[in-house]
Amino acid sequence: MQVQKPYRILLYYKYVKLDNYEEYAAEHLQYCKEHGLKGRIIVAPEGLNGTVSGTVEQTEAYMDYVRSDPRFADIWFKIDEADEHAFKKMYVRAKKELVTWRLQDDHDPTELTGKYLNPKEFYEMMQREDVVILDGRNYYEYDLGHFRGAIRPEVESSREFPEWIRENKDMFKDKKVLTYCTGGIRCEKLTGILMKEGLEDVYQLHGGIVTYGKDPEIKGRLWDGKCYVFDERISVPINQTEEDVVISRCYYCGKPEDRYVNCANPFCNKQHFCCPECEVTYKRSCSDECREHPRNRYVEEEQAKLQTVADE
Ligand SMILES: [Zn+2]
Ligand SMILES: [Zn+2]
Repeated sequence: MQVQKPYRILLYYKYVKLDNYEEYAAEHLQYCKEHGLKGRIIVAPEGLNGTVSGTVEQTEAYMDYVRSDPRFADIWFKIDEADEHAFKKMYVRAKKELVTWRLQDDHDPTELTGKYLNPKEFYEMMQREDVVILDGRNYYEYDLGHFRGAIRPEVESSREFPEWIRENKDMFKDKKVLTYCTGGIRCEKLTGILMKEGLEDVYQLHGGIVTYGKDPEIKGRLWDGKCYVFDERISVPINQTEEDVVISRCYYCGKPEDRYVNCANPFCNKQHFCCPECEVTYKRSCSDECREHPRNRYVEEEQAKLQTVADE
């Protein structure tokens, strides 16, 4: 029998009208701080979106707390086990929207959204001839791992999606469109955007990639690489079969590598794949300019290490 790990990471959202969202955010922050949770939560007039970590007891109590509000009685928590916290701090932000789309003609995803597919239905649908699979995330999330054959949208943020869809509409013509994202929230509105562009057969993976990866029958099949997550783990495995492969490559030498680092130039910070050898050779810096930057963190870390040795 597997031993339960001491911590949990929760991922959740719900689109529901919140009249007092700023008040709710303040109360939420207070609860989380008092109960030792860490993570990132967004509260908006259209609902709640969050990911937090804590001990089994803390997260259990938190879920009860959220559900005690009738508006969130049926919210779906996706739960991952963990050995420790996955965040350093606790943030609750009151914002205008849960995902930053900044749509000119915004819509309510509880009124307009694509049809939901469970992991098995999504797996079966992906293998049809008349479908296009659209990754609903950013290109750097796609590059770490994605469904086989999915389209890589050339966008850096959700904000850029509507225009990209308009420009690439022909790709979806007369096809069934399947979308997916990490936990499902981005597809809630993305599918509506596609429908407003005149596409009729639009579907979304219910519960997102993290739910797909946990399905005991599907076992993450047809997923290549890892899934990018917005906490300290950076990525989680999805495909539990022998097909589990590394598809991303070291930025410098091109070898298969799924280790993500930030550029050591604190003013660049560009996330890139980097193998341990190239980290040393290239000082974890994405360009010559970054390598030679006077505030280069890799150089500072190495100097600090030398200093420690000298002190001992
Ligand atoms: Zn390398
Ligand atoms: Zn850089």
